[in-house]
Amino acid sequence: MLNIVLFGPPGAGKGTQSENIIAKYKLVHLSTGDLFRIHLGEGTELGKLARGYMDQGKLVPDEVVIKMVEDKISHHLDANGFIFDGFPRTVHQATSLDTMLQSHDLSISTMIALEVPEDELRIRIKERAKTSGRVDDQDEEKINTRISVYLNETAPVASYYKEQNKFNGINGVGSINHIFTSICQVIDRL
Ligand code: ADP
Repeated sequence: MLNIVLFGPPGAGKGTQSENIIAKYKLVHLSTGDLFRIHLGEGTELGKLARGYMDQGKLVPDEVVIKMVEDKISHHLDANGFIFDGFPRTVHQATSLDTMLQSHDLSISTMIALEVPEDELRIRIKERAKTSGRVDDQDEEKINTRISVYLNETAPVASYYKEQNKFNGINGVGSINHIFTSICQVIDRL
């Protein structure tokens, strides 16, 4: 199985590049943000629990996220692989993901980190706010919270994969196609 962690700050382009990667490599998309938004839309208990955190730009508690991911993985064990988008977002989520995968004799193949400067992220999120309908895209304070949560809690996840020699940084500024070509070069080397 080809199991890729697609990593990067909010607004880095993970969703866009995930679509390209899935189309080419036929992987299952596991976006925790998307899964939570589906639960929100359907008004499930999980959605109600997640809403408060998401609307403020804070992380949903690890236990909740991990359980949701475990459930999704166990339903797709026959897949070519997974693309993890927006997960893991804490070191605890990263170690839990390794344990989960090991229990199925699987592992993470690589991490691809989209690198985008903070001022560019802000511009992109504000642009996306016009059409996304996402509460967390709408105001400066929520965007600030998401960026600081990323720096404090999520950025250490990159070191976790660096220690395992699985980290690949990609310049996330430029045309979508150009960035996708750089991503494919990493995957095709595996
Ligand atoms: P972003 O564009 O900020 O990366 P996502 O769609 O990935 O947005 O996530 C939106 C929100 O969903 C996050 O701000 C957080 O509240 C919640 N969320 C998504 N993934 C996780 C996760 N792995 N751990 C905790 N919370 C998460």
